[in-house]
Amino acid sequence: MTLLPPARLYIDGELRDAQGGKTFEVINPWTGDVAGEAADATSQDVDAAIAAARRAFDETDWGDPGNRASRVALLTKLRALFEENKDRLAALARFEAGAALGAVGMAHVDTANQGWDDYLAVFDQVTWEEDLGNRDFRGFPSHRKVVYEPVGVVAAITPWNVPHYVNVGKVVAALLAGCTVILKPAPDTPGMGAIWGELAAEAGFPAGVLNVVFGKDPAAAGEQLVQDPRVDLVSFTGSTGVGKRIMEAGAATLKRVFLELGGKSAKIVLDDAPDFARECAQSMLVFHAGQGCAVQSRLLVPRSRYEEAKAGLAMAYQGFGDNWGGMDEPTHIMGPVVSARQMERVLGYIELGQQEGATLLAGGKARPDKGGGYFIEPTCFVDVDNSMRIAQEEIFGPVLVVIPYEDDEDAIRIANESQYGLSGGVVSADQLRAERVARRIRTGSISVNGGMCIAGDLPFGGFKGSGMGREWGLAGIEEFLDSKVIATRLAS
Ligand code: NAD
Repeated sequence: MTLLPPARLYIDGELRDAQGGKTFEVINPWTGDVAGEAADATSQDVDAAIAAARRAFDETDWGDPGNRASRVALLTKLRALFEENKDRLAALARFEAGAALGAVGMAHVDTANQGWDDYLAVFDQVTWEEDLGNRDFRGFPSHRKVVYEPVGVVAAITPWNVPHYVNVGKVVAALLAGCTVILKPAPDTPGMGAIWGELAAEAGFPAGVLNVVFGKDPAAAGEQLVQDPRVDLVSFTGSTGVGKRIMEAGAATLKRVFLELGGKSAKIVLDDAPDFARECAQSMLVFHAGQGCAVQSRLLVPRSRYEEAKAGLAMAYQGFGDNWGGMDEPTHIMGPVVSARQMERVLGYIELGQQEGATLLAGGKARPDKGGGYFIEPTCFVDVDNSMRIAQEEIFGPVLVVIPYEDDEDAIRIANESQYGLSGGVVSADQLRAERVARRIRTGSISVNGGMCIAGDLPFGGFKGSGMGREWGLAGIEEFLDSKVIATRLAS
């Protein structure tokens, strides 16, 4: 039984099948069965999408300064259509990305739509022009201004884990800035991309302004977008390895690249944290089976209180018990991992952790009894040293590693000894102490005592191997603008 409507391409204002009519199966992570089918774009389809986006940027008034209010109006209309289609978005999150019912509203649908509202709310604050006044420089008296213009054609390449959230983060910001867009979702979640085509057509988007392509091969369409000289900017969210390849391949055409990559964020619980054992217990990595780039997947606790932390966590995992993995359970926040490939990868890391000498405090096994899908128990490793691969590499599954530290300096050193720097947290009874530690962590966002450091009006992005550039909020829109100086000679 297919649960989802067919995912069709959207090219130059038309909802289309792939040339030649090829399709591929979308697999339901809960059951391993086919959930739907999607058009398998050919390179001619991708070429047509690029040509359409180029033409819409170069030959229409989409990106013109006089068109800003119309862009806002159209994106407001599209936002309303996405609101009307919340149930369909929820079904897509469940049956493409494996979101549990208790998690669907959170990261998958509502947070994304609220982020869209945040973009609309900050749009008035975008700086489109700055007057830098007169200056006589080297005998050329001039009046100077800087104008900010849309970068051009944007390829938005997105992952499967929170697909609606990431699609909104890129597509809405780029369109508001005045760019034209080709959205390329992951092969696991094509329906989350296809819905943009359907609703953009319904909203009356001009042909070519937004295009959506996807295919079975994870790399082919993306590589074509990255290599094509008609694409000006690639906005990518995904793994660090693919991000590096995109930067390399984009160099041939001097592509602007914006990268949101992986993470291995540290939560540091300081020795004076209030309700210490409960704080540690709350650090279980279970939401959406740990498949979030900004999740706090390394828990750093003082060695002096390591046993207390372990006891708190052991109780928490025991209490969580079997309250996960129910496809129709409204209270469950954890389902399967997204695919057979991802399951194999995560189980490989669990095996590796044991070989490296870490101790399993909870979980560690596949759970085929939960259904034909890709179920892995909530898993926690203790006695972890930060040099182990399970502490250094992004597992992207429900696997928490707990690392002891000696003092605040040691905690800071361990948190920073990572190729990544996307998010993190610090908890202490002393807010100033926590903030002092937070300021020394090399990361793009960090929570102090549970503060919410990720929201649609806050710039989000990484240090180091977690990427470059910022998404969301004002910075997210300005990422899609280029500056141009206009200097007018004044009479001497
Ligand atoms: P991935 O890197 O395998 O794929 C991401 C996207 O890139 C997909 O659309 C894929 O089809 C495409 N792609 C794959 N190979 C490509 C190539 N050679 N050229 C161009 N495009 C290519 O990542 P994934 O497995 O879909 O997602 C999981 C990863 O994404 C994790 O590492 C996670 O941390 C990261 N992620 C990061 C953020 C963030 O904001 N930093 C958010 C979500 C996910």
